[in-house]
Amino acid sequence: MEGNNSNPFGVRCDLTIPNLDDLVGLQIITLDVGGREFKASRKTLVGESLYFQGRLINFAASIFIDRNPQLFEHILEFLRTQTPPLFFDTTTLTFDYVKYAALLGEARFFGVHKLESWISSKEYLQAVKIQKSISVVSDLSPELLSSLSDHNTRVDISTGWGIKKVPVCPTAKPSHHGKPEKCGDQCRKMRYRQGGVMMFDDEAVPTGVIIKTKVEIGSTILMGDDYTSDTTSEP
Ligand SMILES: [Zn+2]
Repeated sequence: MEGNNSNPFGVRCDLTIPNLDDLVGLQIITLDVGGREFKASRKTLVGESLYFQGRLINFAASIFIDRNPQLFEHILEFLRTQTPPLFFDTTTLTFDYVKYAALLGEARFFGVHKLESWISSKEYLQAVKIQKSISVVSDLSPELLSSLSDHNTRVDISTGWGIKKVPVCPTAKPSHHGKPEKCGDQCRKMRYRQGGVMMFDDEAVPTGVIIKTKVEIGSTILMGDDYTSDTTSEP
């Protein structure tokens, strides 16, 4: 075919070089984003980003983009791995909604639709499972406290004092205090003389509310188009 004016050597190259797209995709592009340098293959950049598909239509080796580099880091990571970032603080158990809002703006700017819809539909909430259990204990023992430690569970305890009714021995034997089953005939006779009523003392005991918070962080890796269309078509 004649008239291939764009090729200065006048050589047909459309069939002679195999996997031309692959070779072009391997080209390393240097990006200056807001003063910080990034490098990525052309294939990575154009894969999911409409912005780069338009910007890299010509064979530029380096481009300047006037955007926030801290946020671009997450855009690039998504283009590389399909993994959206999890902005979750395991200490406060809260998501960084401000940062997600900022990244949403960048996902729109760079035309990364999968990331944009992942953030705008708040799918990151599904990546973290928080299980809370609350129990009130009337007697906080050291054994109980030491049994609560678990590496992926946060334990919050608020303590106070409660009143426990403790059975009193009629003969005031210290070893029978709180243990009426230890009282023998002598104690029972004494109780009979005192009117036959079981006596109790009020005793202060440490009580607590134990809140256990178990946090499980799941994967945020997005599945391919097939997976997405399959799940969204279900009723
Ligand atoms: Zn007794």
